[in-house]
Amino acid sequence: MLHAALLGGRVGFPVARPLTPSVAVLPIELVGSRAEVSPEDRPVWSRCVHMKITDVDLTLFAWEGIPPTTYGKHTGKFGGRSHLGLLTITTDDGIRGHAFLGSAMRGAHLDGESLIEALKPVVLGQDPLDRERHYRAMWQRNRATTLRAIGAVDVALWDIAGKVAGQPIHRLLGAYRESVPAYASSAVLPSAPAYAEEAAKFKSQGWLAYKIHPPTDPQLDIEVCRAVRKAVGDGFTLMLDGSWAYQYPEALRVGKAIEELGYHWYEDPLADDDLYTYVKLKQQLHIPILATEYSPGGFTAFAPWITAHATDFLRGDVAVKAGITSLVKTAHLAEAFHMNLEVHHGGNSLNNVANLHVIMAIKNCEFFEVLLPAGAQKYGLVEDIEVDSNGLVHAMGEPGLGAAIDFDLIERRKTAVLR
Ligand SMILES: [Mg+2]
Repeated sequence: MLHAALLGGRVGFPVARPLTPSVAVLPIELVGSRAEVSPEDRPVWSRCVHMKITDVDLTLFAWEGIPPTTYGKHTGKFGGRSHLGLLTITTDDGIRGHAFLGSAMRGAHLDGESLIEALKPVVLGQDPLDRERHYRAMWQRNRATTLRAIGAVDVALWDIAGKVAGQPIHRLLGAYRESVPAYASSAVLPSAPAYAEEAAKFKSQGWLAYKIHPPTDPQLDIEVCRAVRKAVGDGFTLMLDGSWAYQYPEALRVGKAIEELGYHWYEDPLADDDLYTYVKLKQQLHIPILATEYSPGGFTAFAPWITAHATDFLRGDVAVKAGITSLVKTAHLAEAFHMNLEVHHGGNSLNNVANLHVIMAIKNCEFFEVLLPAGAQKYGLVEDIEVDSNGLVHAMGEPGLGAAIDFDLIERRKTAVLR
């Protein structure tokens, strides 16, 4: 008879002993019926795992002084004050997992109540390491809550797993690399020269790529793209995010123009659910198209985009696609079709850390997105992700998410605790 103590204390994973095949493929139902199975009859790995979630709460904290910002018609103009939420999942042995909920343009209270009402009962009393089971159970509640809330719980569960194992999350996922190129991703700026100046500034600081969120007037957008290309020269990597703003004729016109200008990808030119027209557009353009950032549905909704040849890459992040679990599945799905999953920014500092862990664990993502301005994206960490002089961002090295949360700031700005 084996006990966790004989295997060297906590051995949530990796399992410290080789398993016979017959043990390794035991059905998942055994997890749920653990209480009715005598300890001697449990599979080895089941006997190793003995954590329990004892509490889930969300601390709302104020974010002031956000600069006036817009990314297009889909966001409008926002700024001033918002709320983030610090999600804390507490376990019976004292390990806590965290995630941030919310962004500068969407306060955490909007998703927070449904997180507590619909998702807390799903995970409370459960083993935090049973992430796949929790992901599926939370997904079943998706009509009662939001993908952002599911994503936050999933990220916090991964944080716990990393802390249990004493490893950064990207190493649990299977580390592939230690750094990745970043791109500066503009807000909507007042003029073509403003974009040109900003792109040139980032290039001079060593950044390797720049993406434009344009005014979404097709003629003006083409002028912006020309001005930026002229400012940075032919060798610099540029992308355009059409922000779902065009009809087919405009999308084709803008696409042809940036194809000529040697842009690297053409992101979301059409409505997020317009798979039919994406197929038509892709047949007319050579520039790679990046769709599916906000395509409706969850992980399985990517299938028709791939089979219809409607996009060249998949897109998502831990907030809009429901967590690290879902994002990693998406990356592996894309890999089977020799496609990239280009990871979207996460809307808050800790989501970006979670995104970075996923990128470090996959080959098929070219860039880490840094959405501008920093004052509308970075908040709540002691030290945020920074781009080095070579244009790279680097993996977090501490267990779990590995980023130092600014608990003092959160305490000072606390406005409510949902529990
Ligand atoms: Mg985008």
